[in-house]
Amino acid sequence: MCDAPLAGTFIKRAAMKESKRILRVMKFGGTSLANAECIRGVAELLVRLHRKQKLVVVVSALAGITDTLIQAAHQAARGKESLWRKAKQEIERRHFHVAENLLPPRERPPVELQLSDCLANLEALCSGVTLTREITPRALDAISSLGELMSSALLAGVLRSHGVAARVVDGADLLVTDEGFGDASPILEATRTRTRKRLMPLLRGGVLPVITGFRGATRKGVCTTLGRGGSDYSTTLIGAALDAREVWIWTDVDGVMTADPRLVPKARIVPSLSYREAIELSFFGAKVLYYKTLQPVVERRVPVWIKNTFNPAAKGTRISLRSNSRSNRSGGIKAITSVARADLVTLSGGDIFSFPAMAARAFEALASQSISTLMVTQSSADNVLCFALHHGDLNRVRAVLRKTFELELVHGYMGPIEVMRQAAIIVAIGENMEGTPGIAGRAFGALGKRGINVIAIAQGSSELSISFAVKSADVKGAVEALHREFQL
Ligand code: ASP
Ligand code: MG
Repeated sequence: MCDAPLAGTFIKRAAMKESKRILRVMKFGGTSLANAECIRGVAELLVRLHRKQKLVVVVSALAGITDTLIQAAHQAARGKESLWRKAKQEIERRHFHVAENLLPPRERPPVELQLSDCLANLEALCSGVTLTREITPRALDAISSLGELMSSALLAGVLRSHGVAARVVDGADLLVTDEGFGDASPILEATRTRTRKRLMPLLRGGVLPVITGFRGATRKGVCTTLGRGGSDYSTTLIGAALDAREVWIWTDVDGVMTADPRLVPKARIVPSLSYREAIELSFFGAKVLYYKTLQPVVERRVPVWIKNTFNPAAKGTRISLRSNSRSNRSGGIKAITSVARADLVTLSGGDIFSFPAMAARAFEALASQSISTLMVTQSSADNVLCFALHHGDLNRVRAVLRKTFELELVHGYMGPIEVMRQAAIIVAIGENMEGTPGIAGRAFGALGKRGINVIAIAQGSSELSISFAVKSADVKGAVEALHREFQL
């Protein structure tokens, strides 16, 4: 008779215990999911981690699959049916190979059904594109994000075969975005509400959700993507929405490094970074983080870890509000990064054109083309504005500036637009260099000793980073010299 109330109490206690467990959101990138062996490793890691905490997993597609899907879409648009069919076969082969190797026979049918569904969708979409010979951004999103649906089906299946109650959840059911197909922006409040409503009950029930990264949907339910590399962004959006204890981004390096190890073999892992430092690093091209990734977690102060799937014992890099580990040797500098292919553009306003007027028009022109600058300097006595940009943007920049300043150039109110090619931007980053005197002096000294000429220099008043332009050929020497000088 007293069985029922007792069982009820027991279930309630179990549920309470479940709800008190710490929640972490973890993302696995394409290289962590490259093949059967990698996926087995990820599953085993998750089985261990899931014993101690509540988990939400976000995946990107198997390595290289998104590229293949996008290629297939473009082949379809050119009417090359045999080519996209070949791509489809390759995608099919890779996923079914994993299924056959990792799933016991009873787990296989539901997973293979999901894979076949995705392949049928791919076929239908590419056939449509072949007929119309046109690929719209909307269709491209539907095609390019199929890889995440397939990888999540595989990983969830493998986890279930290890006894974990894993379930695929489509990111398109969680992330509400605008209609910026190909690079959609999330609508935060709607995303938070939807994510909590959908995932909380699963988590309370002990389910491990495996979410397709990269994918979102408009309010009307049309599939969008967050831009290439966007599954990191999916992860922090979900981590913030759930108020997770932490977000872990599992990748193929031990963490954020003090410099690119191809340039500085002695580069080390940075144990901790502040959000601002990490955002600065990703803006200047550090590849571990997609540049928008940190936005959602900054406000909710959810720490983010970068960890290595292939070396889980390594501690990794922690990114949070505080920038720890101030050391005198380093003067507060945490890392040196660089953009190796940049150009410097110089505009000279002469006497007639005031500097603010010229700068305003120049930047308005750049903004109209969504071009970002890497560094900017002003020498106001001669009204000279100099800025650095990614080499890939040069042609567009030249065209838009020529058009903007057409009259001034013709009448000689401005000097000709000068471009110095093959420049590189070296950036030393560290929040704690604020207020530390002598950093620039040490940096210049170190570069000077190496015989490296600094073409331009910029430091914001926030003293978060200091940037130098040098010749491309000097990148390695410059990064090495600074790395050594600050003993990173
Ligand atoms: N699979 C997508 C891409 O390759 C998203 C990601 O990997 O983050 O861009
Ligand atoms: Mg990726």
